[in-house]
Amino acid sequence: MSTPDLAAMTRDLAAMVRIPSVNPYDAAPGPGRREAEIAAWLLTAMADIGLETGREEVAPGRPNVWGRLRGAGGGPTLMLAGHTDTVGVENCDDAPFEARVEDGRLHGRGAVDMKGPLAAMLETARLAKGEALAGDLLLMFVVDEEHLMTGSLFAGGRRSAAPKADSCVVCEPTRLAAAPAHKGQSAFPITIEGVGAHSSRPELGENALVSAATLIRAIADYDAALLARPPHPLLGHGRATPVLMTGGESHSAVPAQAVLTVDRRTLPAEDAATLRAEIEAVIAGAGVKARVGAPAPEVAGLDTPEEAAILRAALAAAARVGAPAAPVAFPGGTDAPNFGCPAVICGPGDLAQAHAADEYIELAQLSAAARLYLEIARIMLKGR
Ligand SMILES: [Zn+2]
Repeated sequence: MSTPDLAAMTRDLAAMVRIPSVNPYDAAPGPGRREAEIAAWLLTAMADIGLETGREEVAPGRPNVWGRLRGAGGGPTLMLAGHTDTVGVENCDDAPFEARVEDGRLHGRGAVDMKGPLAAMLETARLAKGEALAGDLLLMFVVDEEHLMTGSLFAGGRRSAAPKADSCVVCEPTRLAAAPAHKGQSAFPITIEGVGAHSSRPELGENALVSAATLIRAIADYDAALLARPPHPLLGHGRATPVLMTGGESHSAVPAQAVLTVDRRTLPAEDAATLRAEIEAVIAGAGVKARVGAPAPEVAGLDTPEEAAILRAALAAAARVGAPAAPVAFPGGTDAPNFGCPAVICGPGDLAQAHAADEYIELAQLSAAARLYLEIARIMLKGR
């Protein structure tokens, strides 16, 4: 019994798309923004499969849920992980929660990012029940990936009662290529200090916006210097990009302060202290009076080594089922670094359709994903 049931996955995916679970961002969860509703649906689905389930709240109304398929014993635990939240629907064409199927695609918010992958995870557990596996297969569903990643940070942290795994596949869409690496992100707010004065007498002040212009030039030079460093084999270079600026008080005042945010995309080897020191050196070099605030967001990078068992298993499984053979970089940040075990990102569908006005997933990708995940489970969970 190892043929994925596409009709069952399509039904599961449609049911999940019809449960709006838009990330509440900084507001409280409410109608249409309830990860709790899809979490409840997942608990029922996992109980129906026969998994041992668990639930824990990361914040009020925002639960992570999981299900465990026990192996015979003597093997490691493999986690398949995904997030239950989606981005908003402000840009959607129409009917983002209808789950319309047309030409082999299912359309709707969350279809590819990532309720389609969640359906493939459930199907993998159904298939794995018929296998003689030594280790445990764990399905983990977390909240809040689209905002602050509090779900995976909580699940991987010490306060969580969630089961821990020895390795992990984060099932975000990669068209089934194995992605062992992505950049991190640290967005630094920089407060530039000037001296306020009436702008009829600017010589009495020190214009924070003019200093900001000097600093922006220096950040551009810093970015060029980053591009001259040796590249990471998959990720290329770290980058520094000015992304936001506020400043000034009125049309008749020399600005006393400006705040510039620099988005620093980081390579996994760059640590927080070094990043801050580099930004401070750029400020000092520009001769600007400024202080660097705490980065927000601050997202870790991922760099799973070539010899990691989960990466080798993902590539071996890909060869067996005809999935892409070469590892790739994942373009954005994910939950993967937060679970505290070696991880690869690998899942059905194309990230190009994520967050899009017309989000969809090719249903054929779901069957291929379930086959691929089952092969990974066979390799990883066969006993030590
Ligand atoms: Zn996602």
